[in-house]
Amino acid sequence: MTGKTYQAPRGTSDLLPPASERWARVEATTRTLFRLYGFQEIRTPIFEARELFDRGIGEMTDIVEKQMYVFQDRGGDWLALRPEGTASVLRAFVEHHLDQTMPPPYRYFYIGPMFRHERPQRGRYRQFHQIGVEALGESAPEVDAEVIALGWEFLRHVGARGIQVELNSIGCPTCRLPYQGALRAYWQAHADKLCPDCRRRMDRNPLRVLDCKNEACQAVLQGAPVIDDYWCNPCRTHFEAVRSALAALDVPYVRNARLVRGLDYYMRTAFEMTTEGLGAQNAVLGGGRYDGLLRALGGPDWPGIGFAIGMERLMDVLPETAEPVPALAVMFLPLTEAARGAALQGVQTVRRLGIPTWARMDVGSVKSGLRSAYRAGVRFVVIIGEDELRAGQWTLRDMSASRQETLSPKEAVEAIRRALGLDALET
Ligand code: AMP
Repeated sequence: MTGKTYQAPRGTSDLLPPASERWARVEATTRTLFRLYGFQEIRTPIFEARELFDRGIGEMTDIVEKQMYVFQDRGGDWLALRPEGTASVLRAFVEHHLDQTMPPPYRYFYIGPMFRHERPQRGRYRQFHQIGVEALGESAPEVDAEVIALGWEFLRHVGARGIQVELNSIGCPTCRLPYQGALRAYWQAHADKLCPDCRRRMDRNPLRVLDCKNEACQAVLQGAPVIDDYWCNPCRTHFEAVRSALAALDVPYVRNARLVRGLDYYMRTAFEMTTEGLGAQNAVLGGGRYDGLLRALGGPDWPGIGFAIGMERLMDVLPETAEPVPALAVMFLPLTEAARGAALQGVQTVRRLGIPTWARMDVGSVKSGLRSAYRAGVRFVVIIGEDELRAGQWTLRDMSASRQETLSPKEAVEAIRRALGLDALET
């Protein structure tokens, strides 16, 4: 009887080698680069009390209304798989009193899976991964520019092409109120041309209509009021300062007066980044300032700003590196049962030098062993048969030259080191 087979749930995927190696390299770049800007890593649970997201993201948002994975556990608690990272980071900050127990700066980054029940399509999944940052307690406009610069530098660093930064300020609760009023009046006057979704949300969440991708709505919003006419003085000054700081940091951007963000708490600076190769309406990075959120989650009345990058979208647009690095450099091939012990010791010796090594322990012929070495892309094969075992030697085969010689383990290791250039491997 053959067994039933299973597939990964819709909208999720397995990250397989060699793609997993590329992901690991991008994550390594994150860890180095983000530290340069003073951000430290934080890891939070992938599920939280459901209420945290209702409060932290906003009950009127699409995420909370339609996309959250909510469940009741066996103890009766209502939980949700995290749909984004900000609420969790802020919850952890408040819970552990990091404002009192840690010195500044309060800058954090995270890397991990997020969950949203969306209709799966290219660039939109139900489990996806984000790299994100949050800077808490810093209100200066230069910080907005620094955070944007970090996102931009990161995308450049990992090799994204044609990066475009879009920037807006969506004002603060004070100036947004009259703006929302003006928008609402405008939507009402054009309601017959809006899509059903927008008609439904135009009163409750008039800003969101600006973000609608529907063609009919797009036509209507060309004539919509713009925020510039409603900014209060502090918001206008802040935005101008962000722009000049971006100029000072040499980060190119375009102003998009219709850019809004999906979460309720965003205020003032909002930004998105796109790159070459993305679908027209997809951003690879999105972020903004959320000055009221930490207080709303029970923390100090501190400002905050952050962004999140979608890993799947990013990996999708990154050019393939020309030559994938082989995962394994050396393979041991014991030809007899008795040689397996020597192979095991040998593997460990070579690994300790920082060289990825594997032993094919299921003893077979030299021919089948070399075939698997070829498929694994290894540079060296160490063959240990009866003769080698007796003499305490290894036969070292250089796959790139199809040449082999029998050496003492010490000599063989030296030859491997020389050929691979250990310094290069350590980078
Ligand atoms: P958001 O948290 O909605 O601001 O999204 C930030 C970034 O996460 C987006 O720019 C995307 O790159 C990525 N992202 C958001 N939702 C998804 C999804 N369902 N599938 C894949 N990536 C996503």
